[in-house]
Amino acid sequence: MIAVVGSLNLDLVAPVPHHPVPGETVLGGDIAQHPGGKGANQAVAAARLGGEVAFVGRVGDDDAADLLVDAAREQGVDTTHILRTPRVPTGRALIAVNPAGENSIIVSPGANSRLTAADCEAAADRLAAAKVTVLQQEVPDAANHAAARLAGGLVLYNPAPAVEGAVPPPRVDLLVPNRTELAALTGTPEAETVDDITAAARKLTGAGAVVVTLGGDGVLLLEGTARLHIPAFAVTPTDTTGAGDSFCGALAVALAEGRTLEQAARWACAAAAISTTRTGAQPSSPGRDEVEAFLAA
Ligand code: ADP
Repeated sequence: MIAVVGSLNLDLVAPVPHHPVPGETVLGGDIAQHPGGKGANQAVAAARLGGEVAFVGRVGDDDAADLLVDAAREQGVDTTHILRTPRVPTGRALIAVNPAGENSIIVSPGANSRLTAADCEAAADRLAAAKVTVLQQEVPDAANHAAARLAGGLVLYNPAPAVEGAVPPPRVDLLVPNRTELAALTGTPEAETVDDITAAARKLTGAGAVVVTLGGDGVLLLEGTARLHIPAFAVTPTDTTGAGDSFCGALAVALAEGRTLEQAARWACAAAAISTTRTGAQPSSPGRDEVEAFLAA
């Protein structure tokens, strides 16, 4: 079983001719709404790949709450530990997309910011039983720290999005940052070369292993003094949003099944590569058969 502790957001996406400057009103196109939030995206990615997933999180007491909980449940996620928060709005992301495909995003965490250590303690049985517990940075540090303490299996920490001042839990078995998040964690400029990325990642102490995701360049695995670069699969991406979430969900599934870190990372690269060929964060996440077929091709 996999436990995901994290955020659920309703993503509201509006096409705009250009991004508004302060004081300006811009007329946009029709709004599209999708279930999102890094926690929910990673939980759904894992469930679609056949993982048994229990989610720990908070929604508000509005219509968006029902929509997000139903969407996660429909994908096979156990939503028992998604708590309702009276008089607080569900998390939302307001996303404006210009014709060049560039986003500007406002995240209003709402109920996600109310997740507490006690909420994680209420799910202690699940966290103790989970082979992998997956955490990100869209809920308070206190909740993440409690979840890491209660985790009976591996703790996979995805320090995303990069949040200034966020403190990773004291116990992390596997840290999975992208380049930007690695720079934020180490307080160094974004590293480009494999050597610079390795040097930056080695500054991180306390994590058992580090997997740096490098977009179209694949991933870099660092375990002790060992280093391995796994190139990305060659695909023609249409939308790389959520690639990191697909990667983390898939990595958790493969590790929960007992694969080695290297095997798990290759499998997760395949799942994430497929996800970049389709739009949307949750709907783009592949099923298990698709990943197996992709690898066999
Ligand atoms: P994030 O979405 O968190 O920024 P990355 O962009 O590093 O994360 O992508 C996560 C993983 O998704 C990569 O390590 C890679 O395996 C896969 N991926 C991302 N972009 C591409 C791409 N253009 N081609 C193939 N795989 C990709």
